[in-house]
Amino acid sequence: MNEMSKSGQSGTTGERSDEALRLDGNAAAGLLAEVFAVEMTSAQSTCAGCGQTGPVGMLLLYGGEMGAVLRCPACERVQVRVVRERGRAGRYWVDMRGMTTLRITPSGLG
Ligand SMILES: [Zn+2]
Repeated sequence: MNEMSKSGQSGTTGERSDEALRLDGNAAAGLLAEVFAVEMTSAQSTCAGCGQTGPVGMLLLYGGEMGAVLRCPACERVQVRVVRERGRAGRYWVDMRGMTTLRITPSGLG
């Protein structure tokens, strides 16, 4: 957990500086599919900051080579951070403290 906190803090200072990297959450579909075995962009997240619920695909993506920071489109609070651990293929750190709930519906169940 300490490593997670460190990466989160360093991300906080740099994540807003490069607006050119900002896309929406759909652009993170590949990365999210690697981490979660289900389709994540249609999962419904509830923001811990403002309480808005919406699909993960509509979150604002601040991306980079290392991973992704997904922010609430309403209040811009960070909902999710996903980081690939350098030198450790297949290992990820996921910080979801910015969302209160995540409702996942497996595909085919509507
Ligand atoms: Zn919000």
